[in-house]
Amino acid sequence: METIIEKIDPVHPDFAIMGQAGEILRRGGLVAFPTETVYGLGGDALNPEASEKIYKAKGRPSDNPLIVHIADREALEGIVKEIPAKALALAEAFWPGPLTMIFEKNGRVPLATTGGLDTVAVRMPGHAAARELIRRSTGYIAAPSANVSGRPSPTKAVHVIEDLNGRVEMILDGGAVGIGLESTIVDFTGQTPMILRPGYISGGMMERVIGPVCMDRGLMAEDSSVRPKAPGMKYRHYAPKAELTIVEGEENRVVETVNGWIREKEALGLRCGVIATDETAGLYRAETVMSMGSREDEESIARHLFDVLRRFDFLDVACIYSESFHTPRMGQAIMNRLLKAAGHRVIRV
Ligand code: AMP
Ligand code: MG
Repeated sequence: METIIEKIDPVHPDFAIMGQAGEILRRGGLVAFPTETVYGLGGDALNPEASEKIYKAKGRPSDNPLIVHIADREALEGIVKEIPAKALALAEAFWPGPLTMIFEKNGRVPLATTGGLDTVAVRMPGHAAARELIRRSTGYIAAPSANVSGRPSPTKAVHVIEDLNGRVEMILDGGAVGIGLESTIVDFTGQTPMILRPGYISGGMMERVIGPVCMDRGLMAEDSSVRPKAPGMKYRHYAPKAELTIVEGEENRVVETVNGWIREKEALGLRCGVIATDETAGLYRAETVMSMGSREDEESIARHLFDVLRRFDFLDVACIYSESFHTPRMGQAIMNRLLKAAGHRVIRV
């Protein structure tokens, strides 16, 4: 299929283009679009055939449910059985924004959208063009990240084009996204609200609004005997082609050790890359050193992670060493993605 690619202003998207995109969605087609977290691959959430097309375009396992995107609170009432008071409080505090909540679904949401579950994940994005697109659709857009399953999530339109050109009707190019990591997911179907995927909205931010929130144990287990509750979190994800190793320890020691490994690898004719920060990038003796931004600015680190991982795939490197990023607020979210990308390969020095 020929994919239509259109540039849009992320704040004031072109009226005619958004109308065309909305029409594609209403007819059951697929449109990739920017949100504040990552680019989404959208289809009509109420149309099982559209959801099936999303799974096919991404090569996504069909037991991995999709997040339904809405533009207003009334839309939430239309697809869930009930809205717990704490969920309502979080919606007040963080919607529109990078927070996804899990509810018991009603009969309007097809099982094809929820991967066979009787719960549904819902998010109200804050991105102006995303909201406009939702309004032009049936009001419900199922949208996983717009990457081929297993690859890093797209934070720029070129990433979407790399993965999905020819597989979707339309790609809306609204420039680089603001946050760069997928939404925080919190589940309201158990006793205590539970974080199933860490993101920009931290546990602490939610606890200030609703009291205790717990973390899914399956997320942290390194060799997981405990299964994550979000089906998608159990899959291998984000891995670059080169072998990625996270190196933890005191800064000087990490730099010195990594430089030693690089010398050893180069003696064997192997090229290496390093993922560093603005503060340390100049200290490594690798062919390619990519900075995630300043350690003082954790939002920059989050925003650059997926782009850096993707850029390494265009380079001829056999191994990548990465610093770790246990930053104060988003550290959990950043390290969750980086650990997955590294297949949990961590060396402490
Ligand atoms: P993505 O769309 O790529 O951001 O992935 C969506 C994530 O949300 C995946 O990890 C899914 O497993 C998770 N998810 C979506 N719906 C549900 C649900 N009803 N219950 C638990 N996890 C969900
Ligand atoms: Mg994804």
